[in-house]
Amino acid sequence: MILSCKVKLSEIQAEGKKFNWIRPKCPRCSLNVRSQGYIRRFFKSIVEAVFIKKWKCHHCKLVITCRPEEFWRRYQEPSDQIFEILKYRIKNLSWPPWTTRQRGGHWMNKLIKKAKINLMLKECMLETIHLFQQKKLTIF
Ligand SMILES: [Zn+2]
Repeated sequence: MILSCKVKLSEIQAEGKKFNWIRPKCPRCSLNVRSQGYIRRFFKSIVEAVFIKKWKCHHCKLVITCRPEEFWRRYQEPSDQIFEILKYRIKNLSWPPWTTRQRGGHWMNKLIKKAKINLMLKECMLETIHLFQQKKLTIF
């Protein structure tokens, strides 16, 4: 399970394995968890992998990792950056040069699909993007 944590990626990167992670409680059974070492994760704009702490609940066997809250799970780009890229596409009718059409198109399709499912698709796509950003909604 990936938990969204209030940590800064820059601090994790700078401190590496010495970063002081706050040990979470198991989200399933609320018991203490034990350290399981680190896993390496890649984030956009950082060339090297970053060490992310991993814990395991020895009661229910749940494996837990934390992720900086500005990053959605399975996304290497910060959520604010994703929304800015989508806004750029809507305003300029082209993808920004710092991303690819394939990545941006994937995010746009995810956003539209989620907005349609939740009946949040507005007449103007910019309004839809602003709504998702303000409410801190994910697009997956
Ligand atoms: Zn547990």
